[in-house]
Amino acid sequence: MDKEAIYPYQAWKITEEEFLLENNHHNEAIFALGNGYMGLRGTVEEDYPGSEKTTTPGFYINGVYASEEIIYGEEAPNLPQNGQTMINLADWSEMNLYINEEKLNLLKGKILDYKRELDLKQGLLKRHILWEDRQGRKIEINITRLISLSREHIGAIRYQFKAVNFSGKISLNSAINGDVSNHHHLRNKKALEVIESEVDTKSGYLLHNVKSTKFKIAYVVEHLIVGQTKEKCESKKRSSENRIDWIFEISASQGEKYTIDKIVGVNHSQEKGENPLSDARASAARASISGFENLIEEQAEFMTGYWQDVDVKIEGDDALQQAFRFNAFHILQAAGKDGQTSVAAKGISGEYYEGHYFWDTESYVLPFYAFQRPEVARNLLLFRYNTLAQARENAKRMKLDGVLFPWRTINGEEASGFFMGSTVQYHINADIAYALNLYYQVSRDQEFMENYGLEILIETARMWLSLGSYIPMKDNKFCFNTVCGPDEYKPGVDNNAYTNYMAKFNLDITVKMAEIIKKEAPEKYNRLSERIDLTDNEIANMKEIKEDIYLPYNEKLEITPQDDSFLYKNPIEVDNIPEEELPLVKNWHPLIIWRYQVIKQADVMLLMLQLGNQFSQDLKIRNYDYYEPKTTHDSSLSPAIYSIIASEIGYKNQAYNYFMQTARLDLDDYNENAYQGVHTACMGGTWLSLVQGFGGMRMFNGNLYFHPHLPDGWDSYQFRLRFKGSQIEVTIKENIVKYMLISGDKVEFKHYDQVIVLEESHLAEEVQI
Ligand code: BGC
Repeated sequence: MDKEAIYPYQAWKITEEEFLLENNHHNEAIFALGNGYMGLRGTVEEDYPGSEKTTTPGFYINGVYASEEIIYGEEAPNLPQNGQTMINLADWSEMNLYINEEKLNLLKGKILDYKRELDLKQGLLKRHILWEDRQGRKIEINITRLISLSREHIGAIRYQFKAVNFSGKISLNSAINGDVSNHHHLRNKKALEVIESEVDTKSGYLLHNVKSTKFKIAYVVEHLIVGQTKEKCESKKRSSENRIDWIFEISASQGEKYTIDKIVGVNHSQEKGENPLSDARASAARASISGFENLIEEQAEFMTGYWQDVDVKIEGDDALQQAFRFNAFHILQAAGKDGQTSVAAKGISGEYYEGHYFWDTESYVLPFYAFQRPEVARNLLLFRYNTLAQARENAKRMKLDGVLFPWRTINGEEASGFFMGSTVQYHINADIAYALNLYYQVSRDQEFMENYGLEILIETARMWLSLGSYIPMKDNKFCFNTVCGPDEYKPGVDNNAYTNYMAKFNLDITVKMAEIIKKEAPEKYNRLSERIDLTDNEIANMKEIKEDIYLPYNEKLEITPQDDSFLYKNPIEVDNIPEEELPLVKNWHPLIIWRYQVIKQADVMLLMLQLGNQFSQDLKIRNYDYYEPKTTHDSSLSPAIYSIIASEIGYKNQAYNYFMQTARLDLDDYNENAYQGVHTACMGGTWLSLVQGFGGMRMFNGNLYFHPHLPDGWDSYQFRLRFKGSQIEVTIKENIVKYMLISGDKVEFKHYDQVIVLEESHLAEEVQI
């Protein structure tokens, strides 16, 4: 499935070469900027001249939401009562330019030159326009936009223009518009009200209140009239209840360049700090004093550090080189880093999925961070720790012990109104435990495990003990009934293999970690035990039950059955489903989907990856051959995992094709829905399929393994990883692999069956594939 590229292949850039309305919606997500705290969609600065159907303007703060009652078609007991929706906040990006009275409108006059580029190296969005108005006056405009990565409360726009062939009045109307609402969920409902505003000739603020949740959001705007522009500029202001306009009138001389910078500070009331308004004022004032150029420099510095750790250099495949960097850039923009927020399914780049956090974070994004920026992984796990109370309530709702983490959430409570697609996916508890263990194995952060991790492990493990039961007709094995694995096309099944194995893993690491901490930090262990009523008996019980968990295997087909009923469902192959009926989720009633052996996304395959040391190569091949033709990949989380297993079992072409679908999903708009926001899990999947697929990297029981190969057509690729406090670099070129210690102490791992020890930094070990 090849898609035509929308942007030219460039190593460090995504470039829009022509202003086309039909690309606008997609561009808004691709050119979205963010810093984990807040995100601004890539809307154009001037009033958008196209139809409302092709634009979804948005500015969001990660974790700031409205809540409303969930209306059910049919009621049932103990369903979640309130949803949460990330809200579209005030739009501060609006800047309209007028030549005399003629407003810049790219559908009128002539566009003589146009370019918008996302500069991945510097973390900037730059726009260049050469426009001729209907009177023949030409103006050159250069706009640079950033959301600061080193100052999380700051966004800024530099607006520069030059009258090319005339002198005269040019006005720039810069605004902040608080009269906004969501476009998708909560559509057209006024979730916000302006409770205060103030305006001066160059600065001002709005203070919003979210009616349902009482979040207060302050936006402080300052304008800097730069250099010679000052002498030629007169400023005026205009304000209404929920909008402020600043009008800068410049008597422009032909050929001279004028510059106005807009600096915006944003804070909300549920974060640490004094109060949102004074905090936003202070941030905006500090940024204004530093000036726009400084903000750019800081941004470049931040990005240099990021790319040093995270970049994967691919030689010989420009499309994938670009795609990897684009995805890594958006992962950076999406991730909350304060322990109070996480990574939403669409990051902060769009309001679909309502800004909710799913298992996507732990299973697809967290590994990226654990191996490269462990401090971010730690904060993502802290988010789960900080929402344990809500997860306890959620478990109670389902008559379970310990915690049940929500399937979809912002504030830690379950926000889904469709339990067959959410609560039934109990595996989220094990996914979080798995991620916790991954972080621990990579970072050796004992302190984290003692203070936070162990409590999460015990509480998630408790849930499994209360969910499962010994079933006489299953040889008295401990079974988990009425669950759903990652494949959302099979909810309410018994003994989903992924779930059972992962539950066992959850119990196993819990027992091990409890034993370690009991020995090494007995006081902390005792304090925790007292607080959460943990007894030695309970640990002994976990130890016993984990050995009794039913682990499905089908002797006849010699494969891992996805669950107890899967193999008995109506046979089907995806190739025989008419293309227009895909994705099934949009075209078939759920009951139709449920009666077929049809799969939405990697399920058994994900198990083959995550607990891959427990399965033979032959079994992986048989499982792949059985499940691959039945998988629709209707979820973007799927192809990455198939790519990794295909790499492992030597299906090189399939590995490459699935990788391509993952890596360029949003850029090429494979699913024609990128406008809704980028797919962050799939972006994490790009890194997974590069490093775990082609690089064959695995980590089991704290040991690191590589089985690298070079995809056909590539000259080489190179990536870096952090492991137990050290950083290594792996370069694969033809059939030679070079492992180098970049920093830290000795690192030991296996390259195929060969043990490699890197002792001295910058000394490399070269081996053959
Ligand atoms: C997938 C889930 C995923 C969710 C959010 C769904 O389509 O099936 O696994 O968590 O999207 O990305």
